[in-house]
Amino acid sequence: MRFLELCNVLQAIEKTSSQLAMQDALARFLARAPATDIGMVCHIILGEIASEFEDVNLGIAEKTLIPAIAHAALTEEKAIAGMFKKKGDIGLVAADRIDSKGSLSIREVFDTLHTIANTTGSGSQAEKTKKLESLLRKCSPIEARYLCRLVVGNLRLGAGTMTTLSALAIAYGGGKDGKFDLEAAYNICPDIGIIAETLARKGLKGIRNIGVVVGRPVRSMLAQRVSDISEITARMKTIVCEEKYDGERVQVHKRGERIWLFSRRMEDITNQYPDIVEAVRTQIRGKSFVIEGEAVAVDSKGNLLPFQHVMQRRRKHDVAAYAAKIPVCLFVFDCLSYNGNTLIGADLLVRRKQLEKTVKESSRLKLAKQLVTTGLSDVEEFFNVSIEHGSEGIMAKKGDPGSAYQAGTRGWNWIKWKREYAHNLRDTFDVVIVGAYRGRGKRAGGYGALLCAVYNEHEDRYETLCKLGSGFTDADLVALPKRLDRYMSLIQPKNVVCTPAMKPDVWFSPKVVCEIVGAELTNSPIHTASASDGIGLALRFPRLMRFRNDKDASQATTTDELRAMVKKRFH
Ligand code: ATP
Repeated sequence: MRFLELCNVLQAIEKTSSQLAMQDALARFLARAPATDIGMVCHIILGEIASEFEDVNLGIAEKTLIPAIAHAALTEEKAIAGMFKKKGDIGLVAADRIDSKGSLSIREVFDTLHTIANTTGSGSQAEKTKKLESLLRKCSPIEARYLCRLVVGNLRLGAGTMTTLSALAIAYGGGKDGKFDLEAAYNICPDIGIIAETLARKGLKGIRNIGVVVGRPVRSMLAQRVSDISEITARMKTIVCEEKYDGERVQVHKRGERIWLFSRRMEDITNQYPDIVEAVRTQIRGKSFVIEGEAVAVDSKGNLLPFQHVMQRRRKHDVAAYAAKIPVCLFVFDCLSYNGNTLIGADLLVRRKQLEKTVKESSRLKLAKQLVTTGLSDVEEFFNVSIEHGSEGIMAKKGDPGSAYQAGTRGWNWIKWKREYAHNLRDTFDVVIVGAYRGRGKRAGGYGALLCAVYNEHEDRYETLCKLGSGFTDADLVALPKRLDRYMSLIQPKNVVCTPAMKPDVWFSPKVVCEIVGAELTNSPIHTASASDGIGLALRFPRLMRFRNDKDASQATTTDELRAMVKKRFH
């Protein structure tokens, strides 16, 4: 299929602000995309050339593209750089300067970008520029526009995974049920390319057969929260209490000699934890498996240390030195597949049994501490002991029949009960930064406050909740541009909903997540979170707690969760 055909659809999508129109346009296109190309098409719609877990990184910033565009357009680099400064969108610059006939196929674009991603070592930057230049020479203006945006990772379409899955459901039938099956399959196989190609080749039957594959991360099951600990006994009969360790979630995959570690965002973090890899190799029996646990920093006596410590292990350099300086213990709590058998449909206690049979404990790798009970007083006692032990609280997991692993879902099979809730401290929210306001006075020259949003899963978009200006250290403020500017957009991203009153000085594509506390949720006409009749929810007195590099935007607090919090307060 020609790249131009795809670009024409991308343009149509970019022009519409209606989610439904976007979905329909996508669906019509996907219905006629050949099975050989549909996987690539879906990746490109999401602004990527591979799934996140594949760690395919183009490593190209606008600065690298400027010489490629200049050479392809036979213009001076200075002129292109000047134009980019004015327009702020490298795609528009390229479209303005490049005007060939447009002879690229989607396959050629995709394969060349993969070759570019695999180009490493000395001289690789020049090599990448050359390959980009050769692609650009074959581009019509519209192709140049989307190719350049794709390359820098900012397509500006506002079409997320959920919209693409809905479009696939429309294109290949199945309606609501089809969408449900597609979402369930995506939670087990978070690779939109595989999902789309399986659907096109084998229909919904093929989609329902998608299972856990070692080496391909499964989207994590998440926990609900309650406002009173007694709700736990109301929601489940057999309560499997586990400590809620305050560390980094790790999904361990092993096949033969090969071991992978994936983060909660499904990044491959194997190289960061050579100590965990070694512990898995020597302490977990089995030819192949997928196991989950929490990696927690520990001191020399084995005491648990808070989250900030383990976060220092997130590094590419000095890995061995930091492994010695900040040792970790992996507390394993789930088993998703073992020796070729998928276990996500099995009940929790069956999965735990498998772990108990398989894991040999040491100070580096242990089973999560567990208590199975039906009584609230046991749960409370377990919570108190867990807090004393240095955990964040407890996870109460359903131990009754029907306690499958619900991939990618925040369901009632897992409930978290944390220290903060017990002490009636203020709620925390994970919000996505979608804009910033320029600073004044002490903060002049940088950002003074950030516009934060929550995620609306139904509409696949981000709705504003608050303007965040406090809780930043001086170092946080200095680091903000470095953290945010690569996601900057001169126009409002299409998947961000904001009222004119809150319009920020700069917009960001929703990527960066931070955790905040706030005093109170109120109704507000200037925020759009969970809005009805023009009145949204706003968080008063927000304060930054920490950045959540371990979360991506779609894992932020959702509008459904907000609504549930409000409901609890008033009933
Ligand atoms: P929070 O911000 O409260 O940590 P979250 O949004 O990161 O929550 P939740 O689904 O609310 O994630 O809580 C589950 C997280 O708790 C898991 O992602 C995991 O990292 C951590 N965790 C710690 N101990 C356990 C355990 N025993 N079982 C499951 N998850 C655990």
